[in-house]
Amino acid sequence: MAKKIDGKAFAVSLRERVGKAVAQLQQDHGLVPGLAVVLVGEDPASQVYVRNKGKQTLEAGMRSFEHKLSDATSETELLVLIDQLNADPDVHGILVQLPLPDQIDSHAVINAINPDKDVDGFHLINVGRLSTGAPGLVPCTPLGCLTLLKDELGDLSGKNAVVVGRSNIVGKPMASLLLAESCTVTIAHSRTKDLADVCRGADILVAAVGRPEMIPGEWVKPGATVIDVGINRVEGAEGKTRLVGDVDYASVEAVAGAVTPVPGGVGPMTIACLLRNTVQAACAANGISFDLD
Ligand code: NDP
Repeated sequence: MAKKIDGKAFAVSLRERVGKAVAQLQQDHGLVPGLAVVLVGEDPASQVYVRNKGKQTLEAGMRSFEHKLSDATSETELLVLIDQLNADPDVHGILVQLPLPDQIDSHAVINAINPDKDVDGFHLINVGRLSTGAPGLVPCTPLGCLTLLKDELGDLSGKNAVVVGRSNIVGKPMASLLLAESCTVTIAHSRTKDLADVCRGADILVAAVGRPEMIPGEWVKPGATVIDVGINRVEGAEGKTRLVGDVDYASVEAVAGAVTPVPGGVGPMTIACLLRNTVQAACAANGISFDLD
């Protein structure tokens, strides 16, 4: 039976380390890291994420700045706000909650953020830094996955890693991070042939597809480490909905060496890594060395 990788507990310990680093920064340098979160519109899921981010930012001893704009906000109005946040010395991290309404080009907005405040790591400069091995801000969800993998396996070098999914926010940065750890990386997607065989070659299998329980145990190499990024809401018993991942946990658990559950695996690591990135950005902005890991 696979070990269940407890991302929830790891996220609690990471947030505690962030909190201690924040207290130390305030004591030694009078610096309080600040995170600005911008929400445009009323999407219920986004509202929950933004609320959680604000709460956990304050719990870590940082400043939280929330900007809630109406659905009708124009791209120009949003860009003006981004400029103000870029110029605000109390704001070290800026996160624009996606998706944005149709009238706003999300690429234009993300690339208007000062790359050194881009705590989501989506700015083209940070994408370039990640893929060339330069220091920068790394997308939170893949960073959380990598943190769990390194905690579980230690040195990842030489391992065969398969990432299913090639999105800009999860799959591609995940592959870059694994490559930087000297894994042999395969990126699979909807056009991949013989996906089952590709997955069976993985010592590390990362599923970031968005299809409920798509990957069964038969696709998993015995003893592999499986990271399930998927968050899918499905109809459960008595009409209630429940969350499942992209892997079929019951059958995968019987084969894998270790696997993250959904919920309680990768999900909680995302906000913990966002807080970590905000401290990193605050330190960099003030010429202070950053060593949390
Ligand atoms: P996207 O929809 O942007 O990307 C999905 C990827 O899966 C695409 O590359 C797509 O391929 C690939 N794919 C789709 N169907 C198949 C298939 N049948 N076989 C192989 N590959 C397939 O999703 P995201 O990357 O944004 O998110 C993926 C999942 O992770 C979602 O469930 C999302 O909710 C979750 N998520 C969780 C987070 C967390 O904090 N834990 C954060 C972000 C996302 P193609 O490119 O060819 O279309």
